[in-house]
Amino acid sequence: MVDFELSAEQVALRERARKFAVEEVLPVAKKYDRSGEFPRDVIEKAFKAGLMNLAIPKEYGGPGFGAIETVLVVEEMAAACAGITTSIYVNDLGATPIVLMGTPEQKKKYLTPLTQQLKLISFATSEPAMGSDVAGIQATCQRDGEHYVLNGTKFFITNGDYADTYVVFARLKDSKRHQGICAFIVPRDTDGLSTSKPMEKLGHRASDTATVYLKDARVPAENLIGKEGAGFMLAMLTFMHTRPAIGAMATGLARSAMEYAINYAKQREAFEQKIANFQAVQHMLADMYARVEAMRLLTWKAAWQLDHNAPEANIASSCAKLVGSEDAMKIATDSLQIYGGRGYLESYAIAKLFRDAKLYQIYEGTSQVQRYVIARYLLENYQPTMKGY
Ligand SMILES: Cc1cc2nc3c(=O)[nH]c(=O)nc-3n(C[C@H](O)[C@H](O)[C@H](O)COP(=O)(O)OP(=O)(O)OC[C@H]3O[C@@H](n4cnc5c(N)ncnc54)[C@H](O)[C@@H]3O)c2cc1C
Repeated sequence: MVDFELSAEQVALRERARKFAVEEVLPVAKKYDRSGEFPRDVIEKAFKAGLMNLAIPKEYGGPGFGAIETVLVVEEMAAACAGITTSIYVNDLGATPIVLMGTPEQKKKYLTPLTQQLKLISFATSEPAMGSDVAGIQATCQRDGEHYVLNGTKFFITNGDYADTYVVFARLKDSKRHQGICAFIVPRDTDGLSTSKPMEKLGHRASDTATVYLKDARVPAENLIGKEGAGFMLAMLTFMHTRPAIGAMATGLARSAMEYAINYAKQREAFEQKIANFQAVQHMLADMYARVEAMRLLTWKAAWQLDHNAPEANIASSCAKLVGSEDAMKIATDSLQIYGGRGYLESYAIAKLFRDAKLYQIYEGTSQVQRYVIARYLLENYQPTMKGY
């Protein structure tokens, strides 16, 4: 059976997220994009509205939403501002490794506080010398009695400057690639942990991005998530759960880019008529709509597969992220084209959407990495239907 109908609760949740996006996010999107200031007040409002920490189970105080509910919420939020949404959603990225592999004690100690008052948690795999190649992590961890000692530099960490807790991935000394990677819950006040100033960025300027330094940072051994060496698998599982949300955010951004282009095309005149009359413009608009529909279907399919523990959920997840991010970039580009020269001006919203779209092709695995994941599946596991002749 295939059923695209949402439940009454899901429709109500999407309406709540849409109302929040329209009333609380959109009016301040330009201000935070311009200033690059951290939008703590908006994040606080999202927290109070129950639109944050979506994946934290009910027993730890969260809403315990499934992936479908998550993609519904983040599409609406990112339609108003991609940067603010990234800052809000990254708590789910940070919490997911604990949800997936944490002990009951770790969940109680580190997930429950996230739901009681606004607390931020960041996820840290990337480093100055590696991003795509998670097995190439160079930060080290070494057991010392009842502690692990962490050393290294984590780069590009969303909310890194403001987080209360970090999930840090590091490798056991002398271990090779995948085998030695471990994940740790690292409280902000750990001696030896420090952060940089926020990085200046092209887009998503409302989300904070910083470097996290670990210098002989001692973390209790009980803060290891899963077993020693489980970190690589945990990072991959985390991405499998969070990539559909990136596809959904890209869908939200693309939907807004399309809506702005429709509006502009109906107003702007050239050659003594509305530019919406030109077939070339109409075809761009039609393609945008068809792509937005396709992007959303892929994110819903990936989310459904995650919620049903389907064996190929990781492939659907990569497809949703790949198609979503590539199409969002294309739609933002075409929308800007419909605006003509005005699209190039910061006074029109489309310039921000164009800048923001680019990041979806990069973080949580670049488009090249998603293609690598999908191609490996095709070459190693995909079962063809036709034998050919
Ligand atoms: C604003 C922002 C926020 C971020 N937030 C976080 C965060 O919260 N936590 C975190 O850990 N990281 C975060 N990142 C890091 C992000 O995940 C990495 O930038 C991304 O994974 C790419 O890594 P890289 O920049 O090191 O590029 P590289 O890995 O050096 O790749 C460079 C280029 O080579 C290509 N490439 C690499 N390997 C292959 C391959 N095998 N086949 C084909 N092409 C390949 C890539 O696709 C890319 O085009 C963030 C990045 C940005 C910009």
